[in-house]
Amino acid sequence: MPQVQSVLGPVDPGALGHCQIHEHIFLRPTPMTERNAALRFDDFDRSLAELRRYREAGGTSLVDAQPAAAGRDGGALERLSRESGVAVIASTGYHLLDFYPEDCWVHRLEEDALCALYQSELETGLLPWEADPSHRPETALAVRAGLVKAAIPAEGPVGRYKTLLRAAARAAANTGAPLMLHTERGLRAQEALEVCFSAGVRPEKLVVCHADRQAGDPAVHDAIASAGVYLDYDTVARPKYHSDEEEIALLCRALERGYAGRILLALDTTAQRLCAYGGEIGLDHLLRRFLPLLRQRGFGEETVSGFNRANCQRLFDG
Ligand SMILES: [Zn+2]
Repeated sequence: MPQVQSVLGPVDPGALGHCQIHEHIFLRPTPMTERNAALRFDDFDRSLAELRRYREAGGTSLVDAQPAAAGRDGGALERLSRESGVAVIASTGYHLLDFYPEDCWVHRLEEDALCALYQSELETGLLPWEADPSHRPETALAVRAGLVKAAIPAEGPVGRYKTLLRAAARAAANTGAPLMLHTERGLRAQEALEVCFSAGVRPEKLVVCHADRQAGDPAVHDAIASAGVYLDYDTVARPKYHSDEEEIALLCRALERGYAGRILLALDTTAQRLCAYGGEIGLDHLLRRFLPLLRQRGFGEETVSGFNRANCQRLFDG
């Protein structure tokens, strides 16, 4: 029986309950957070309060989608999980290069060393958070990652991103952990998926993020879904991209086209979206508002609960 590695240890995928596949709950400063106030949320008590609200609403697990040296603090995630009762699954891998200062090792390590590092975060333990980004800590925490995060810019898996993506995909293939791919509105996702497939990652272990930031072009969604991978839809309650009506139209289309079983719903939270930081909606928004809205619109119970339960479970289980 496959197990999901949470920061508190292995969990049976069937016990994940309501899981949001792409969230951010606590973030240490990075060059990106210097430029964007919405990415500043490193107050332990506020993050804990947010998780407790989520737990009260029925949220039992989530993936923290921030990898090493991009603001992730595995020790804080472990304490937050323990004190809130929410199973937090940490990510290894890499994010967009803007998250890392120029002197960070992420820019320089070779593919084999990156792959070994990601694999050791999945199998042994996370690198601890390090205030000096040029320094790569040698001693790992006793907290493991349960998923590999990767990212491609709008240009696709080119230059340094190709090396990073190959390393991440190999680590996912070697360990059986899922790989979650940040994209810019789904652009060039197919090219990145090809890199993952050729490294040996099976489609049912892959998640493409943020395709729903372009609700206007459903063909992009159909093309990604036809590869047999999961789609993370997290552009709920984000009017700067589109209305929730358009998000619901995308979900209707997925249902009609037969890929609702490949949709995972999340919120990709930032300080701007977390209530405990004065944000607009809260980590519990899907549970309290959006899923009930889908039920009102006639989505069946099995479909609605599948977005955060059965589909997530299958991703980790398969
Ligand atoms: Zn994210």
